[in-house]
Amino acid sequence: MLRHGIIILYLLIFSGCSPTEKSLTAFSEEWLVMGTVFTITVYRLDDEHAEAAADLEAAFAEVTRVDEIMSLYRDDSELSMLHSWLGESPVEVSKPLFDVLAASQYYGNLSRGALDVTVQPLVEAWGFYAADTASVPSRQTVEDARKTVGMDRISLDHQNRTVALQPGTRIDLGAIAKGYAVDQAVAALRQRGVNGAIVNLGGTVRAVGQSPDGEPWTIGVQHPRTNTLFGEINLANGAVATSGDYDRFFEANGKRYSHIIDPRTGYPVQNTLSVTVVAPTAMAADALSTAAFVLGPRAGLSLLAGCQNIYGVVLHSNGGQRPDASFPDLKLSLNEELTRHKDATFTEAEGLYVEFRDVYPVSSQPSDCEWNSTK
Ligand code: AMP
Ligand code: MG
Repeated sequence: MLRHGIIILYLLIFSGCSPTEKSLTAFSEEWLVMGTVFTITVYRLDDEHAEAAADLEAAFAEVTRVDEIMSLYRDDSELSMLHSWLGESPVEVSKPLFDVLAASQYYGNLSRGALDVTVQPLVEAWGFYAADTASVPSRQTVEDARKTVGMDRISLDHQNRTVALQPGTRIDLGAIAKGYAVDQAVAALRQRGVNGAIVNLGGTVRAVGQSPDGEPWTIGVQHPRTNTLFGEINLANGAVATSGDYDRFFEANGKRYSHIIDPRTGYPVQNTLSVTVVAPTAMAADALSTAAFVLGPRAGLSLLAGCQNIYGVVLHSNGGQRPDASFPDLKLSLNEELTRHKDATFTEAEGLYVEFRDVYPVSSQPSDCEWNSTK
């Protein structure tokens, strides 16, 4: 059975002000877009109803625009049209599509191919695009799909904003587009003068400013096997994204096959349960959580350690199962930066619970990354 799960995020938001001040009110709305739930909360003065409604609309319009450009589920998306372009000659694309492809190339190179948006034929071979069609494909099917996978099949010309694809190349931006969309929504809110907001697109979350009581936002992250939280992260002006093996998966022969595929083998990643990344932007958090998921705890955390202002948690298992086979023996690894923070405490109760006392990330600068994978 293929399950589409939405990462449950618990936002603990407080509001408060002195009686003499005009008070701030939370204005929220929820939509279904990009195959998931999109929720925004903006804080404005009590009487700013009209402004708040316009804020919410402006942010939603950004996410809709990204969906219209990058969806694989729409025949008329710019990405689908790029796929149906048969020529190998370069095609001019919109700025959003070009920017996301350029970022995909950056994080793809950085992660030595762990993040690879040309993975579409493999995701298709494993049946992850449609509900209830997922099954283990033959080795031959996997090998055939692998022939058209590889970031070197995409050529980008930054000067002319054109893209050329080698024949048969198909792109899936599922690992990065949500993050980009959240950043665009936040940019629209900021442009409208919003100082406090939380934007959450299917578990990719970005916080703007501080909550009304001046405290950081507290964002809970779902435990990969139970309906509870495994941790809380305090955040001001930053983003959190989680990649999980519970998000979309099927089980066959007692094994879980989930939607994140190791492009180097053509098979779904085993033994990583979830990766949560905190970063200055949602796109960085989104791309790096998927990349670290593929790389696993050791290489994944070494990748994150090479980036500035990035924090990560990897939940993994060594393949061992507890007596309840659906609940693997969980292990937790934190990146070095996080463990060095004196105030961060980690307690294990009921298997696992993590409380990050510090406020992350410490800077809103875009993250510069360098990774020497042989270290
Ligand atoms: P996320 O939930 O952000 O980790 O993204 C996972 C989605 O990205 C999957 O559902 C696939 O559509 C796609 N995907 C799977 N494996 C990879 C990979 N190795 N690199 C890039 N995208 C991938
Ligand atoms: Mg991702």
